[in-house]
Amino acid sequence: MPLFDDAQTAFESKSDKDLKKAHMLFKLIANPTLTKMGTWMFKIPFATNIPLVKPVIRNTIYKQFVGGETTAECLKVAKELYKYGVSSIMDYSVEGQESEAEFDSVKEEILRLIKIAKDNPNELPFVVFKPTGFGRKDIYEKVGKNLPMTDEEKQKWQAIRNRFDEVCKSGFEKDVTIMIDAEESWMQDAADDLADEMMQKYNKERCIVCNTLQMYRHDRLDYLKKMFEKAERENYLLGYKVVRGAYMEKERERAEAENYPSPIQPDKASTDRDYNLALEFIVENNYRISLFAGTHNEYSSELLTELMRKYNIPSNIHKIWFGQLYGMSDNISFKLGNMGYNIAKYLPYGPIKEVMPYLIRRAQENTSVAGQTGRELSLIEKEIKRRKQA
Ligand SMILES: Cc1cc2nc3c(=O)[nH]c(=O)nc-3n(C[C@H](O)[C@H](O)[C@H](O)COP(=O)(O)OP(=O)(O)OC[C@H]3O[C@@H](n4cnc5c(N)ncnc54)[C@H](O)[C@@H]3O)c2cc1C
Repeated sequence: MPLFDDAQTAFESKSDKDLKKAHMLFKLIANPTLTKMGTWMFKIPFATNIPLVKPVIRNTIYKQFVGGETTAECLKVAKELYKYGVSSIMDYSVEGQESEAEFDSVKEEILRLIKIAKDNPNELPFVVFKPTGFGRKDIYEKVGKNLPMTDEEKQKWQAIRNRFDEVCKSGFEKDVTIMIDAEESWMQDAADDLADEMMQKYNKERCIVCNTLQMYRHDRLDYLKKMFEKAERENYLLGYKVVRGAYMEKERERAEAENYPSPIQPDKASTDRDYNLALEFIVENNYRISLFAGTHNEYSSELLTELMRKYNIPSNIHKIWFGQLYGMSDNISFKLGNMGYNIAKYLPYGPIKEVMPYLIRRAQENTSVAGQTGRELSLIEKEIKRRKQA
C-alpha cells in the first residue's frame, strides 16, 4: 500500500460521528458554488450574529479546522493528538491588527504561548507568529526597500524590532523554538533580515529561531544557499520552515498591476522542483540547518523520509519536522506520527468571528488546490467503509 493511503491510521483519533461530519463538510467544500456563496456570506461582518449561523459554523468548518476559542481548549486537542504521536503548534489566528496597542497585545499573547509550550514540550514543540502581527506591512516594505521614513515610522520599526527580540529572547530562555511565518514578498525582505539577525543572536548552540522559505518564489533556493554560506562563515545555526507559499495569485496580480517582474515561479513544476531541492540541501547540511517541512504534498513528504534514510538520519531526530494544518491531510500526519517521525500540526485558535478569514482561506484552498478535497473525501469514505465491514 502507498505510504499515505492508510486511512485507518489517518482517522484513528476520529469517532464515527466525527468522521461522518468531516465527510459532509468536505462534500460541501467540494462544491465550488456553495463555497463561493458561503465565503461571500461570511465576509459580511454581521453574518455570525444571525441566529443559528454561529452554532452551524462551530459544529462544522470551525470544528474541522480550529482547535478552539482559547488556548485551554486548544491544549485539550493537542493532548489528544499527541496520544497518536502528533504534536501541535498553537496558531493565534486573529488577523488584521493595525494599532501599536494591538501589535503589543499580539506580542503578549505569543509570550503567553511560549510559557504554555515550555510546560508542554511534547505536545507543543514550537511557537509561531506572523511578522504582520507585530507591525504594519508598509513599515516592513519601506525598511526592505530602503525608502525614506518619517521619525514616527522609524519608531514603529524600532517597536517591531523590540517585539521580535522580546519573543525570541523568551524562546531562548525557555528553550522553546520560535517559528516565524512568511508573508507577501514586498514586506518579506525586512522580516527576513530581522529573522536572520535573531538567528545570529539566539542560534549559537541550538536552533531557537526558525524562519520560513516560500519555494514558489524563484529566488529562494539561491537565498537558502547564500544564508547557509553566511551562517558557515559567522558560525551560527539556521532553522527553516520550508513551504510552497500561500499568496500566489496576490503576488502575480500585484506584479502585473505595478509592472515589475513576478517573484513567483513560472509553473507548479518549478515550485515542486525547488521545494524538493531545498529539502535535500537542508537534509545534507543538517549539522547546520534545522528543517520543518510544512506541506500537504504526499510526494515531498515521502521524499523527506527517503532523504533521511539516504543520509542515515534517525526518524525522531529533533532537527527535522514534518507539518500540516489541523483538519487537513491526516493521512500524512498520523501515518508519520505512527512511524515515529516528528510531526506537528498548526492548530489555530480564536473566537469564531475573528478566525473567519482563516476559515474562508481553508475552504477556498480546499476548493482550489486540485485534488486536495477529492483526496480527503476518498480517504474518509474508505475508512467509513472499513469500519462498517469491521
Ligand atoms: C504547517 C504549514 C505552515 C505553513 N506556513 C506558511 C507560511 O508561513 N507562509 C506561507 O506563505 N504559506 C504557508 N503555508 C501554506 C503553504 O505555503 C501552501 O500554500 C500550502 O501548504 C499548499 O502547498 P503544499 O505544499 O501543501 O501542496 P501542493 O498542493 O503540492 O502545492 C500547492 C502550492 O504550489 C504552488 N503552486 C500551485 N500552482 C502553481 C503555479 N502555477 N506556479 C507556481 N507555483 C504554484 C502554490 O504555492 C500552491 O499553494 C503553510 C502550510 C503548512 C502545512
